[in-house]
Amino acid sequence: MKKIEHLGIAVKDISASNELFSKLLNTTPYKEESVESEGVITSFFKIGESKIELLQATHAESPIAKFIEKKGEGIHHIAFNVEDIDQEIERLQKEGFEMIHKTPKKGADNMMIAFLHPKSTNGVLIEICQEIK
Ligand code: ZN
Repeated sequence: MKKIEHLGIAVKDISASNELFSKLLNTTPYKEESVESEGVITSFFKIGESKIELLQATHAESPIAKFIEKKGEGIHHIAFNVEDIDQEIERLQKEGFEMIHKTPKKGADNMMIAFLHPKSTNGVLIEICQEIK
């Protein structure tokens, strides 16, 4: 693991939250992108080396819709940057962590991503991501 790549925040209304976070962070999102496979619209803010990802569900079956239903809006996941995502998935599984994605998938912001199951990580949803070069 190299660094925290971004924090993911689940929101109900991404355009309202884009405005809110623009005021808070004093900068505008550098990217908005929808990820069909996850049923989300995302936007990204860059703060120095760190990023904040806002996620809004596009339908009721989206993991973000289910998260908000259960826990309300708030921090959804922590994403770590990795050098080699395949190798990292293998390492984590050997260490006994349960992967939601055993093979990496295409995520937002030009990344291959995989999520760990929060039940194996103290209730924290963790994403690992590798930049697509
Ligand atoms: Zn993310």
